[in-house]
Amino acid sequence: MHFSSVSHPASSMLRQKPDLAFDREHLWHPYSSMADPAQVWPVVAARGVRLQLADGRELIDGMASWWCAVHGYNHPRLNAALLEQAEQMSHVMFGGLTHSPAIELARRLVALTPAGLDKVFLADSGSVAVEVALKMALQYQQARGLSGKHKILALQRGYHGDTLGAMSVCDPTRGMHQLFAGILPQQYFVPSPRTGFYDDWDAADCSALEQVLQKHHADIAALIVEPVVQGAGGMRFYHPQYLREARRLCDEYDVLLIADEIATGFGRTGRLFACEWAGITPDILCLGKALTGGYMTLAATLTTSQVAETISAGEAGCFMHGPTFMGNPLACRVACESIDLLLENDWAAQVARLEQGLLSGLMPARQLPGVADVRVLGAIGVIEMQQPVNMAQLQPACVERGIWVRPFGNLLYVMPPFVMDDNDLAHLTSGMLAALAAL
Ligand code: PMP
Repeated sequence: MHFSSVSHPASSMLRQKPDLAFDREHLWHPYSSMADPAQVWPVVAARGVRLQLADGRELIDGMASWWCAVHGYNHPRLNAALLEQAEQMSHVMFGGLTHSPAIELARRLVALTPAGLDKVFLADSGSVAVEVALKMALQYQQARGLSGKHKILALQRGYHGDTLGAMSVCDPTRGMHQLFAGILPQQYFVPSPRTGFYDDWDAADCSALEQVLQKHHADIAALIVEPVVQGAGGMRFYHPQYLREARRLCDEYDVLLIADEIATGFGRTGRLFACEWAGITPDILCLGKALTGGYMTLAATLTTSQVAETISAGEAGCFMHGPTFMGNPLACRVACESIDLLLENDWAAQVARLEQGLLSGLMPARQLPGVADVRVLGAIGVIEMQQPVNMAQLQPACVERGIWVRPFGNLLYVMPPFVMDDNDLAHLTSGMLAALAAL
């Protein structure tokens, strides 16, 4: 039988109005209550940098769907890659089989990431990529006969995902640790870096890290960090020298360095990977989010030949992980196309332009009452308030002004698609200021 060139069936779902009552009764949303669900806005289409709501309103998207949609929505090149791949094969198991979408994606990742990261593990989501990284570090130490090195060192205010292993390395007081006390593996933590990205480096900033490594290195398999930008833990931008010191200390104390670039990867901070601000290569690198330009869920964990060969020479003789949807061809194919677009579009110029627009648009917020700080790095703009924002008021206030921004904690922040033009960016930033001023 021949399945090629199937015409698109007229889908009734495209014309159907989203059933909000059913959603409220039956669907979990991220970090949501089923007893008292927060407001959600039904979206029926997304094009370029605009989300179209069911009532016809259009919102300028400041979130890029949580760091992902760097090329905007409904991109003809990404759509075409997806359709072409779907007509070839949507998925095949990766055990015992391989295919060009995975091979070509790995080729691109090895070429673009910091030198030395040569082995690629394709996973399904950011949290899984972190689980894979942690497991790689543990298996590496075991394979070297150092199974006493079974703990992970992490930074306070860090965020690495929602699965159990990833949660265990998230901020221990502000995160989800208390809820799962006694269940999560106990890890080591040091205070988050204090020296800001734009400040003069303070060498004392690394002393806690050095002390913990000195004292506990015999227990520690790896240090995990979000390079330069601590995202969900507070949108904090720290000094790249911290990373250089962390690299030096990890080498000195025989501990692997894991860089979680799931949020920062693919240009967002003004470097293709945030590790480049410090000129370091981690032993293990986690990527996700913008990897597919926001089309599909896909993540990757890269490591060095040395780590990979050590694991492979160990007792198990292999790396013990293999998800069902590993190397999904649709996702890999779109990821290749997204990376090609990023390079062709001169992402660095796009991000530099957004940085200027965010600076000029957001800095005036420093004059608003209740604002603690305004900061910008690459295509990330943050307004930090002195108090937690009232989401139930602020989010509708943004929607009324035609912008999509999702505040959390004390923060109103944006990381727009790289393709946003100056007019839309000005509308986005002035809308944020107006929404804050109206509270
Ligand atoms: N690490 C970082 C730095 C992240 O920002 C996130 C997602 N917010 C994750 C890991 C987890 O990724 P995912 O939500 O795809 O599981």
